[in-house]
Amino acid sequence: MPSTPITGDQRFVKNINRTALLRLLREHPGISRADLVARSGLTKSTVSLLTKELIDEGWLAEDDAQVTGALGRRPTPLRLLGHGLTLIGAELGPDSISVVSTSVHGDLQEVNQAPLIDRAPDGACHQLVEMVTAQAAKVTQSGSRLLGVGVGLPGAVDTVSGVLQFAPNIGWREVEVGRRLARELEHARLGDVPVYCHNEADLAAIGEIEFGRRPADDPLIYISCGIGVGAGIVLNEALFTGATGSAGELGHTTLQIDGRPCSCGRRGCAEAYVGLKSIAHEAGHMGRQERIDRDALRADLANPRMKKARLAFRHAGDALGVLLQNAWTIFNPQAIVLGGETVALGGAHFMDAAIERLSGFAEQAGMPMPLVRVARHGELATAVGGAAFAMHSLLRPYGTRSIALRVNAEG
Ligand SMILES: [Zn+2]
Repeated sequence: MPSTPITGDQRFVKNINRTALLRLLREHPGISRADLVARSGLTKSTVSLLTKELIDEGWLAEDDAQVTGALGRRPTPLRLLGHGLTLIGAELGPDSISVVSTSVHGDLQEVNQAPLIDRAPDGACHQLVEMVTAQAAKVTQSGSRLLGVGVGLPGAVDTVSGVLQFAPNIGWREVEVGRRLARELEHARLGDVPVYCHNEADLAAIGEIEFGRRPADDPLIYISCGIGVGAGIVLNEALFTGATGSAGELGHTTLQIDGRPCSCGRRGCAEAYVGLKSIAHEAGHMGRQERIDRDALRADLANPRMKKARLAFRHAGDALGVLLQNAWTIFNPQAIVLGGETVALGGAHFMDAAIERLSGFAEQAGMPMPLVRVARHGELATAVGGAAFAMHSLLRPYGTRSIALRVNAEG
């Protein structure tokens, strides 16, 4: 029986060393080469070689060294710049597609949003691929280097194959999104750009860790509130996705025994009370073909005489408070972050009711409230999280479970 040859991989080792320096510089902007040597444990010559390479590629910049009289020239401070380096993130939602490009720090460069023209898998994937490749073309035409693409999908995703396994909100099962996108990027001569597909809430959670404040809140639970309701769980800087990738489906935990029917087939799920469709139903703004009339919802919220919509958001917020209490109790996170369309649309009507309910639980238990905050990028949290995931994977060549989808690898 032929045995697998045992080989080393210098490039892999070099990549780990490079990313260690990048991460150190992100955590400690302005440190010098000598500091990098001390903190990384790498030799002076390795640090010197790698920083030169990273400066040449646009990753790093040297700040002015200060001259201090008799002490002579002080060490040159280095910082993460990312000049000419761009990430793309996207979200394929039940009603719309968002594509963004960001810097390596998560600063938004371009945003492109469009309603979903066709809800069937073929049409929707086609539209997604068109929008992402158009954005990728813009990035490369501007002379920037595209580092990676992360795509958020509304359901459980096999992150290795990029297959969306089950999305009850749009009724899709086993849709091959990742490979279609990788194939189109290959046609656009961007076949070496890694593509990552993940559940939408997972990406938004990584967005908070990768592009959020430092040091990052960890463990962190991100709860996505839209048509679907789901959670992304980050622990020790890594996503917890469960045995088959469906961990964090908070929207399908039971809030009411034998309650309202849910898109997943069960009854009484949180989504049937917190989800945007339930709000639109209660407010009387569910249009034809299960389309939510968002303009009418917005108009009602702005009109003090229209109480129905406000009440619908309050009721959903109250149910969200119960969900927050459950998530807090199960995970004891450092922070719970809320994002998604319902947070953006409902604003204080939705959020205040949730916080009121949660603080009631905290009071009853005599415990301080957990930290709950709104996502930095609101309804773009997943798309920006896609860019963040590409960066996250790049900086952890050994750690992420996702595999970049290469068409030439598996056809
Ligand atoms: Zn359900």
